[in-house]
Amino acid sequence: MSKKSFKEYVCKPYCVFFKDGEKEELACHGAIISERLVNNKKILPPYVNANHVKKDIRFEVDDDLLRLVCGNCPFEAKDCDFRSNSPPKGSVPCGGYLLLFSLKSKGLLTAEILKEICIEKS
Ligand code: SF4
Repeated sequence: MSKKSFKEYVCKPYCVFFKDGEKEELACHGAIISERLVNNKKILPPYVNANHVKKDIRFEVDDDLLRLVCGNCPFEAKDCDFRSNSPPKGSVPCGGYLLLFSLKSKGLLTAEILKEICIEKS
């Protein structure tokens, strides 16, 4: 996926922070890892593009995602309320986290594959 297409596949449908037409220089690590998983055929585009997993997806704190995905995200230190030391009530993760959590909780993404992809090219 190119940056343009992962914005369409991941950011636009899944991320509450995405604003169409706004130029964002950095991509969050959740979107980058989602792109790598698709490019490496570890997850299939139909799963990414599934209609039942969108912005209202439920989520939980997931240690693998926090460590491997958020831990290498340029937004974690200052710009991500979800990952701040005292998260504001109702703060939510980015779309990449939501997508990866959804796939992981459905058994479509294993911790081993996530680790392999995160370490391989980080
Ligand atoms: S939830 Fe926050 S820190 Fe984690 S990948 Fe998304 S933007 Fe980055």
